[in-house]
Amino acid sequence: MPERGGRRIAGAGRAPPRLRRRVAHVDLDTFFVSVERVRDPSLAGRPVLVGGAGGRGVVASASYESRRYGCRSAQPMAQALRLCPDAIVVPPHFDLYREASEAFHDILRGCSPLVEPAGLDEAYVDLTGIGAPGAEGSGERRAIAEACGRIRDELRLPVSACVAGSRTTAKVGSDRAKPDGLIVVEPGDDAAFLAPVAVRELPMVGPRMAEELAASGVRTIGELAALDRRWLQVRFGRVGAAVHDRARGLDPAPVRGGRRPARSVSREVTFGTDLLDRAALTRAIAQHAERVGRDLRADGRRARTITLKLRWSDFQTLTRSHTLERPTHSTRVLAAAGERLLDGVLAQRGRRGVRLVGLAASNLVGEELQLGFDDGDRAAAREEELDRALDAIRERHGDVAVTRGPPPGGDAGEADPARRRRPPPLAGPAGPT
Ligand SMILES: [Mg+2]
Repeated sequence: MPERGGRRIAGAGRAPPRLRRRVAHVDLDTFFVSVERVRDPSLAGRPVLVGGAGGRGVVASASYESRRYGCRSAQPMAQALRLCPDAIVVPPHFDLYREASEAFHDILRGCSPLVEPAGLDEAYVDLTGIGAPGAEGSGERRAIAEACGRIRDELRLPVSACVAGSRTTAKVGSDRAKPDGLIVVEPGDDAAFLAPVAVRELPMVGPRMAEELAASGVRTIGELAALDRRWLQVRFGRVGAAVHDRARGLDPAPVRGGRRPARSVSREVTFGTDLLDRAALTRAIAQHAERVGRDLRADGRRARTITLKLRWSDFQTLTRSHTLERPTHSTRVLAAAGERLLDGVLAQRGRRGVRLVGLAASNLVGEELQLGFDDGDRAAAREEELDRALDAIRERHGDVAVTRGPPPGGDAGEADPARRRRPPPLAGPAGPT
C-alpha cells in the first residue's frame, strides 16, 4: 500500500538506499591447458605445456603438474622441457579457446546483466543488490557458486572466483582461490583480507614499484595501506594515490557491463585541404596508430588485422587490410602496418589528392594471447614496455610531454618531427568510427 491518507509513505516510490558495491572476479584456471584437456581427455592429470613446439617456442600456458617442476608461461619451451622432460607439448588451438571463452561469458551473464569481460578467461561481475535485503552476502555467494558449477559441468573447465567489495580485492582474491575455489570477502572486510597479501599481487603494482616499496620495507598490502598517502604521491604520482586507495579496499571503478566489447578500434581524420605527399599521409597514420594503440592497451586487447582507409578528393573510398602474424597493440607495429598498406596503394594508384585517412584495428583478442610463441616476441615485448612507459607519462603529464624517438635503424630525419607537428585542421566529421 503506497498511499495512506493521501500522503506517500516514506520510502515508497523513492530510489532504494545506496547498496554496497559487490563485485566478483571469475577466472578460468590454466585456461589453454584446460581447454586442451576437454579436447583430449588423456591429457588430464599429466604435465602439459601449451605453446610453440619448435626450438624457439614459448610456453603460453603450463598445467599445475608442470609448474611443480618450475615451468610457467612466457618461458622458452626448451627451458620448460629441461625442467620437466616428461611434459606433453600441445600446439595452441585458438578457435577452441575463443569458443570456450564466449560460452564462459554467456554463463556469467546469466547471473548478472553487468558482466565485463577482461580477456578470454576472466570477467568482472557486478553483484550489487543480489539476494534478499539484510541477507547481504548470501545471494551473491549462491549466484557465483551456481555460475561456477555450470562452468565446471557444462564446459568442463576449472574456475576460481572471489566476491568482494571492489574489483581489486575480487581480482586478488580469485588468484588466491586457485585452483578451482571460491572466496567470499564479507562486506567491509576488503582491507583486512588484503592486508597480509604481498604488494606485488595488487594489480596496479608493477615489478619496479614493488622493488621500490620493498626497499622502503613495505612488503604487504597492509603495510602499503598504512603508508603516508602524500609520500606515495610524491614518490609515484597519481598511481601512488590510486594504489593507496586500493590497498585499503577502496576502488571506485565500476564494472563496465551491459555492452559487448567493441569489435574494432579506429581513428580517422578528414583534412581541410587534400593531401598529396606521402610524408603528410604517414604522419596522419602515425598519429592514428598512437591513439588506436593507446585505446587497445587501455582495454587490454590486441589486434590481428590492421585496415587503412583512404578517401580521395572525388569521394571514392578505398580500404586495404593486413593480418599480422602475432596480435599487437604496439603503436610502432600499427604504424608500420598502416604505412606498408599506404605504400601498396600509392604504388598501385599513383599520387592523388587524399581527403580522409583512417586506421582501424580489428580481429581483437585478449591480452594473454600475446604471451608469445617464438622469440621474435622479445623485441615486441620491449616495444610494448616503451608504449606502456609513454602511456604512463601521458597519463601524468598530458600528450605534449612525449615524443617518440626514431625507430631503431629507421629514418631518423623523418620520424621525430613527424610526431611533433599537428595534423591539418579538421574539415568534416572525424573521430572514432
Ligand atoms: Mg585465467
